Amino acid sequence: MSHVHDAVIVGAGFGGMGAAIQLRRMGYDDLVVLEREDDLGGTWHVNRYPGLAVDIPSSTYSYSFEPNPHWSRLFAPGAELKAYASHVADKYDIRRHMRFGAVATGARWDEEASVWVVTMVDGTEVRGRFLLTATGFLSQPKMPDIAGIDGFAGEVVHTTAWRDDVELRGRRVGIIGTGATAVQLIPKLAKVAEHLTVYQRTPIYVSPKIDGKVPGPVRAAFAKVPLTQRATRLVGTSILEVMMVAGVLHYRNLPWANAIGKAACERHLRRQVKDPELRAKLTPDYDFGCKRPTFSNTYYPTLTRPHVDLETTTIDHVDAAGIVTTDGRRADLDVLVLATGFNLWDANFPAIQVVGREGRDLGQWWRDNRFCAYEGISVPKFPNFLSLNSPYSYSGLSYFTTIETQMAHMERLIGAMQAEGADVFEVTEEANQDFLDRMTALLGNSVFNAGSCATARSYYFNQHGEAVLLRPTSTISAHREAARFPLDDYELRRAPVPA
Ligand code: NAP
Repeated sequence: MSHVHDAVIVGAGFGGMGAAIQLRRMGYDDLVVLEREDDLGGTWHVNRYPGLAVDIPSSTYSYSFEPNPHWSRLFAPGAELKAYASHVADKYDIRRHMRFGAVATGARWDEEASVWVVTMVDGTEVRGRFLLTATGFLSQPKMPDIAGIDGFAGEVVHTTAWRDDVELRGRRVGIIGTGATAVQLIPKLAKVAEHLTVYQRTPIYVSPKIDGKVPGPVRAAFAKVPLTQRATRLVGTSILEVMMVAGVLHYRNLPWANAIGKAACERHLRRQVKDPELRAKLTPDYDFGCKRPTFSNTYYPTLTRPHVDLETTTIDHVDAAGIVTTDGRRADLDVLVLATGFNLWDANFPAIQVVGREGRDLGQWWRDNRFCAYEGISVPKFPNFLSLNSPYSYSGLSYFTTIETQMAHMERLIGAMQAEGADVFEVTEEANQDFLDRMTALLGNSVFNAGSCATARSYYFNQHGEAVLLRPTSTISAHREAARFPLDDYELRRAPVPA
């Protein structure tokens, strides 16, 4: 049999890197991290569109154990996130475990050998005792199902495959989508395009962005006295936590907290857009928090510029020359930008085929039944498998909260295995069902269930109409459970001795 690694991790973004760091801390050195791209960094390697920046304050959007005193702005540009990922990989010596351009297509549990067998696109196999998938929530681009796109004579660019060689200066540009990505990109496109048409299906809540350069003396203080940056992080985390817990998760009991967020966005819109007709088009008709709001000071003003049109009539089709809307009007275009987001529920949960015990196919099982993973990380019938991008795993607003919660879960679970001399873990059906029941009940209080989200078209909702992406608890509670969950929620066993 070919070599069996301690663990195979799929994905070299911040999630996969956190998992590798945790496994190294626990004494595992034979790791392999499979990454389909040609470098590490996940979303911060793939996304390179103009205007890309983090939309969580940078001192909060980083590993708590590896603060970066050098962020240039409160909301750092994407390139700094990518550089930070590189720095962490080198400092924690995990780059040597990574294989780039390594496209995994599927994984199956070999019960007899108690190992995971990962199949690569070239037909080779990689084996590991543990399998961890860290394939991101927003990693499978969504192409819009609009007739005729393939016949467009100009350039078509999805935001996840940005091409600097596509000339935008002086061109007629159309952009489909008004999510967080488009909100960052549109002001940049408008600066260079001769004419820009923005195709909006559903408006997004946009709040003011309190951004700015981090002054040199502040950066120096962060570097010299790390406690100062920790304090800044605590403030940032607390604000995000209040927004999430009070404004979104406790909507039923605290509707006023949600109303504060909505009012802040509406005030921002009123201040920046004076034309009542344009303002009406930009006003969401669903509750704040049903889909992810965003921050920008330049998005609304861009839409008021004379060479920018906001088109809200439904797109009928695309032809060689441009976009035709259902009222028969057409816009001739040279470049078509697709800011159409990601396909989570059909293509991302999980991102590769994963087959566990008794031939259970995880994606099919989730889609045919209900999406659930115990504590957002493990699934019955999938021994020695941690799915880091799972239903109910996303906790809080900064992804790093989720990553570090999952690192704590790994520490407790794998630590218990090591202490007992076990080789295999598997979460019990009962623990998984109890967790699902608890999360379902909590969701009842959230804006997703108690609010008005029907028209939001939010990617938080899956094909069963359930908003099971975000964990409906505080991050403190998520972290506490990760560090203290009952160990008998798992069955720990020894692998059978091979005949
Ligand atoms: P998104 O939020 O899913 O937005 C996709 C947009 O495309 C929506 O406006 C959607 O309209 C539109 N669309 C999709 N298919 C369409 C079709 N067939 N016809 C017309 N319109 C169509 O994707 P995103 O903007 O890429 O953002 C995804 C997430 O990435 C964000 O929520 C955020 O979490 C993250 N993000 C983070 C940052 C950051 O931290 N810096 C930046 C960007 C994004 P509907 O709403 O009507 O479906």
